[in-house]
Amino acid sequence: MLWDRQRKEEREARDLSPFATHSRTSRGRVSPEEPDSLRTSFERDRDRIIHSTAFRRLEYKTQVFVFHEGDAYRTRLTHTLEAVQVARSFASALGLNETLVEAVTLAHDLGHPPFGHRGEDVLHGLMRSAGGFRHNMQSLRTVDLLERRSERYRGLNLSFEVRDALLKRPAERGGDFDPGLQPSLEAQVMDAADSTAYLHHDLEDGLRASIFTVHDLEDLAIWKRATAHLERKEPTVTGSTRVKRVVNSILHLSITDLIENSARAIEAGGIRSALEARRRASKLVHHSSDFGPEIQELHRFLYKRFYRHHRLNQMAARAERMLTLLFESYLKDPTAMPPRFQEWCEEVGRERAICDYVAGMTDRYAEEEYARFFLPGRLQR
Ligand code: MG
Repeated sequence: MLWDRQRKEEREARDLSPFATHSRTSRGRVSPEEPDSLRTSFERDRDRIIHSTAFRRLEYKTQVFVFHEGDAYRTRLTHTLEAVQVARSFASALGLNETLVEAVTLAHDLGHPPFGHRGEDVLHGLMRSAGGFRHNMQSLRTVDLLERRSERYRGLNLSFEVRDALLKRPAERGGDFDPGLQPSLEAQVMDAADSTAYLHHDLEDGLRASIFTVHDLEDLAIWKRATAHLERKEPTVTGSTRVKRVVNSILHLSITDLIENSARAIEAGGIRSALEARRRASKLVHHSSDFGPEIQELHRFLYKRFYRHHRLNQMAARAERMLTLLFESYLKDPTAMPPRFQEWCEEVGRERAICDYVAGMTDRYAEEEYARFFLPGRLQR
């Protein structure tokens, strides 16, 4: 028998938790469309995100290392895929809408500018007097305004629930996006999966790059916890495999703690609907009180020893110079941008249009543009 949209919607109604978001009750799209005969609305959103230009560009955007530092480090694309995997584990264990979680996690970094968090800081500084810049709000601009797939509407015309999940902080919300509500449980899962994925893979990438060593990690409570876990489970593992297994244990223990603690919080709160979960004073998806501080300690370690390491600071200084000079060059002469962005200046103002253009660049495109302006002798193409 064929599993068409209707049967899938019935399956959602039957199998998901009462507090999950259901595709059948979606608030719909800005530009109304006929429902698909086979796919639920969230499946359709997921497919549009995967086929977007912004999604393909994630391959050439920095997670922490720029692309030419080495082939085995995470890029924003592989980060996104790892975050999706973690998010789906959370969602399926909590009986949430796994397809919605998949769609929002695939989309969560679409607005990330080149050169990682440092690139975001630079753009925020350059846009200070024109509304600032945050990558998650840019992800919404990307799916709402910047992608092109139809003559009939702007952007990807995604379901409200996917768009709503991209705005995290009450200050970012307004209009249709009720600032008084918590993010949906699916959005909370995306957020928790994002940080769980990056803490885990940054630990692995930092070790791989010898930015810090196992010895540096041995004092961390979470490292001790994961080592004890491994010694119970696989006492004979040694050498580099053992390090890998400890790092994997951190991921496993984090996911397990988040799922179990969130399930407890949802049950203790007597949550019976998606809206009730959103009306709570605080989020329901979070670590337990003994695990949370260990995660924070790991985060502080990575911040100090990795993200602010001199090798990364060097990359950041270079990125800052490139993005600033590019931004100022377009400001002086918007005709250096493609025609589409010159027209965009008329609609949204020069600064915002330039910001949209620069935020959409991959690392290597930004480097090539920079070379075109400032290193004409090195022009490659
Ligand atoms: Mg992310």
